[in-house]
Amino acid sequence: MTPLDGLDDLRRSLAGAVVTPADAAYDAARRCFNALVDRRPAVIVRCAGPGDVAVAFEYARAHGLEVAVRGGGHNPAGHCVGDGVLVIDLTRLREVEVDEEARVARAGGGSTWLDFDPATQAFGLVTPGGVVGSTGVCGLALGGGIGHLTAQYGLTCDNLVGAELVMPDGEVVHASEEENEELLWGLRGAGGNFGVATRLEFRLYPLERVVGGALAYAGPGVRDALRRFRDVAAGSPPGLSLQASLSTDESAAPTLVVLPCFTGSGSDSEELRTLRSAPGLVEDGVGAHTFLEQQRVVDSAYGENRHYWKGHFVRELPDELIDELVGRMAALGRPPGGILIESLHGAPKDADPSTGAVGFRHAAFNVSAQAVWLDPALDEEYIEWARETAAVLEPWSLGGGYVNYMQADEPIERVRAAFGAEAFDRLQALKRRYDPENVLRRNQNIPPE
Ligand SMILES: Cc1cc2nc3c(=O)[nH]c(=O)nc-3n(C[C@H](O)[C@H](O)[C@H](O)COP(=O)(O)OP(=O)(O)OC[C@H]3O[C@@H](n4cnc5c(N)ncnc54)[C@H](O)[C@@H]3O)c2cc1C
Repeated sequence: MTPLDGLDDLRRSLAGAVVTPADAAYDAARRCFNALVDRRPAVIVRCAGPGDVAVAFEYARAHGLEVAVRGGGHNPAGHCVGDGVLVIDLTRLREVEVDEEARVARAGGGSTWLDFDPATQAFGLVTPGGVVGSTGVCGLALGGGIGHLTAQYGLTCDNLVGAELVMPDGEVVHASEEENEELLWGLRGAGGNFGVATRLEFRLYPLERVVGGALAYAGPGVRDALRRFRDVAAGSPPGLSLQASLSTDESAAPTLVVLPCFTGSGSDSEELRTLRSAPGLVEDGVGAHTFLEQQRVVDSAYGENRHYWKGHFVRELPDELIDELVGRMAALGRPPGGILIESLHGAPKDADPSTGAVGFRHAAFNVSAQAVWLDPALDEEYIEWARETAAVLEPWSLGGGYVNYMQADEPIERVRAAFGAEAFDRLQALKRRYDPENVLRRNQNIPPE
């Protein structure tokens, strides 16, 4: 790669820093969550504020470089990095400011849940976020946001109340319910298609303790335990968020982990008792603990494993589909990897759907095949397993997948279906207004035309 010209001028124009292939920090700076993605950007601009983002856009334009945007680096498609691109790296913008009285948090464009949750919990407040701490707050929120408090408080994007963005032409634009309302609508689900968010603002709720953790099931009871999970979710308990994950043990036998998060009164509920009494329970790790402890129940190594995820929003989870999914785990035959099932009952359905572009709130579950492996020689085998597992879901699918979990090879029809044709047209109009040249195209893209 030939060095770019004007790098010294670029450095001088920034409050932040520049990382190039010549720098010792380069390899760490280009690494992302998914080890399947190994790309070499031309230049990484570590922005210290909106002014730096505008400078980075200008430099990319002047040098004919494609742009990638990096928040927490978690997107499984690896959109945060590309060969020969300029990366607008937001990892220095991690400040989270809490307005206790207004119950609003202002999160920097590169903040993660490891920054956000402790900052808001210092005031006994929360917003519904992701389940793995190192995931980017903005990346997750801009694509929807499903987690341990979804049933109680809705999708993360339902709680997005304001934004500061730098558009590809360098203009700083604010969006809120009072200003650029249409843009706020688009930001609630349509990703980073319009500008780079240097700050997002979220509504907060008082909450410090939950009843949560993990229930593990094994043996022939797994099927019935998953049915029990589905039936409990179908009762739409508003104070109980639910996720489940199918995987296998070393002997290729399917296993199930259910992750409840209960915020109702007392330390127990009928639904928790129902889950606990399901057949095959081998470990009961559910109890009362702090919200910060709940946010540590799930973790995932960064940049070590290769990942390929593919899934569907489904309208129901009938016995027939449960049998198929358990069968797919037997086909995988070894850990790690599995099938994640996130329930969308409760608050996402109560929210006014016209307030955001996100198009999946009417689904019953988000079901995602998550292939995870280490050996590059097994790429094809694992990718095929994820694709075949997603194909099993198709008869029950609402059409679109979850933009936050999609790989880069998804066709535009799947992105369109994720929003629905009408919302997609509206998003394209927004794209024409704010990014007519599709500078921000390394994402689940809304093309201007
Ligand atoms: C281990 C793991 C756990 C996850 N858990 C959850 C979960 O619990 N719930 C859930 O809903 N999703 C979850 N996700 C998916 C996650 O929300 C998406 O992959 C999201 O895109 C990650 O955002 P990021 O900033 O970390 O990623 P990045 O790869 O840095 O960014 C992804 C894309 O988001 C956009 N983007 C990020 N920040 C900005 C910004 N400030 N301004 C404009 N655009 C921006 C850009 O297009 C960028 O390319 C998880 C992913 C992983 C790998």
